[in-house]
Amino acid sequence: MDTPYAITINGKRVPTATTRAAINPATEKDICLFPLATRDHLDQAVVAAQESFSIWRDRPLEERQALVAKLGDLISENRESFIRLLITEQGKGRAGAEWEIGGSIHWLHEIAKQSLPPEVIVDKGEEQIVTRYTPIGVIGGITPWNFPLLLAVWKIAPALVAGNTMVLKPSPYTPLCTLLFGELAQSVLPPGVLNVISGGDELGQWMTEHPGIGKISFTGSTVTGRKVMSSASVNLKRLTLELGGNDPAIVLPDVDPKKIAKDLFWASFANSSQFCVACKRLYIHEDVYDAVAHELVEYAKTVTIGDGLTDGVELGPIQNRMQYDKVLNLLQDCKDRGQRFLLGGEASASPGYFIPVSLVDNPPEDSRVVVEEAFGPVLPLLKYRDIDDVVRRANNSPYGLAASVWGKDVKKAEAIASRLEAGTVWINQIHTFSPDIAFGGHKQSGIGIENSLHGLAEYCNTQTLMRRPLAV
Ligand code: NAD
Repeated sequence: MDTPYAITINGKRVPTATTRAAINPATEKDICLFPLATRDHLDQAVVAAQESFSIWRDRPLEERQALVAKLGDLISENRESFIRLLITEQGKGRAGAEWEIGGSIHWLHEIAKQSLPPEVIVDKGEEQIVTRYTPIGVIGGITPWNFPLLLAVWKIAPALVAGNTMVLKPSPYTPLCTLLFGELAQSVLPPGVLNVISGGDELGQWMTEHPGIGKISFTGSTVTGRKVMSSASVNLKRLTLELGGNDPAIVLPDVDPKKIAKDLFWASFANSSQFCVACKRLYIHEDVYDAVAHELVEYAKTVTIGDGLTDGVELGPIQNRMQYDKVLNLLQDCKDRGQRFLLGGEASASPGYFIPVSLVDNPPEDSRVVVEEAFGPVLPLLKYRDIDDVVRRANNSPYGLAASVWGKDVKKAEAIASRLEAGTVWINQIHTFSPDIAFGGHKQSGIGIENSLHGLAEYCNTQTLMRRPLAV
């Protein structure tokens, strides 16, 4: 069946017999059909990636880097189309879409400058010991629906720079930007280097089991991450797992509530809280709890929620029905337990998966809204008095993705930050990312690193090469 966006295998558009509708979450209307790849398509994609691997690996690093940078130019040349498509399929507001598309361009350009030169351990003339970084082979990339293109780029750029080839699968909820990118990329890359196939969750599982794939780079939920880890054991695949989080933010008593409200709001509600590193538990010192809560409510009232294609909209809907129902269920649980909303709490009946910004007033620490990753705009505000107690509560989670500390006394904030169990801890800032800054989760928030040379190294095998002259 013909679809506007096709899967790309070995440099070509490939038709599929079955399709599914991509839905605009702001209207609940179909955008278009997208292709569902079969196991056979996956096999074809893996073979194409295997066959192009030796050619791509042997191309000089500088050429691979230049082609990856050109992928950034491709997005740049089609920037407005990508922004509109991203708003339509993901639901985010215009500023959020500009951030993601701008970020995708930036990452491709900057990761294209990275390399891991061999490290010479011993150098005594003809006798030498060198550590080299060699590509793994075929990388399987699996991505979620909250930042579909940017998180795909975080995988594509280092995988290709390091000399690997790739089979990439976007989320079935947001396949379109990635399919479009996959097709455009063929004007730059040799056939088979980047194959993009869309399908249901089962396609992800087939990838993790496929013996022709050497590494899975996965971003998604912890529940799925465990399944990925289990099926990847089939051929001892290398793994990078970027998983869920339940990030705490700690607000110290010396903050100015009015001044800090805006930052705290966006820390939690950017991308309608569908952000792995959204602040999902806001611990506020009891001296400023009421004032910070009041200012948050006041700021939230100024934020416009709606269809991202409408001018001025800052926050969009939940991306899909499954997640919408999950968040509604969490709101219901708050109500069932008699918890008080300072704002929100009720979804409107109008079309679109809209949930209003909802602030829950100091719920018990063991309630679902505190313990679970909401992944929607429902934030528990939690009171604390004692620093040791708040550090213990912040760390009391199976997750360890990121955290933040907010206070005028930066030294004091840093002392607290250094006790938090998380892959990234921000002080008086949040969501600062860069191609050069390592990002990854502790505990059940993941395994491995994306970005920086640590991230690049994850797309490589480490090889020790020792030489010496033949004894005569
Ligand atoms: P998800 O785990 O449901 O799906 C992620 C991807 O995995 C999708 O492409 C899906 O089709 C695929 N998949 C589903 N079942 C699979 C299986 N058995 N084997 C292999 N692949 C399978 O996650 P989601 O709902 O799309 O994304 C939201 C989650 O992602 C949240 O928990 C969020 O915190 C997390 N996330 C983490 C990061 C990070 O960098 N740590 C970034 C963004 C999102």
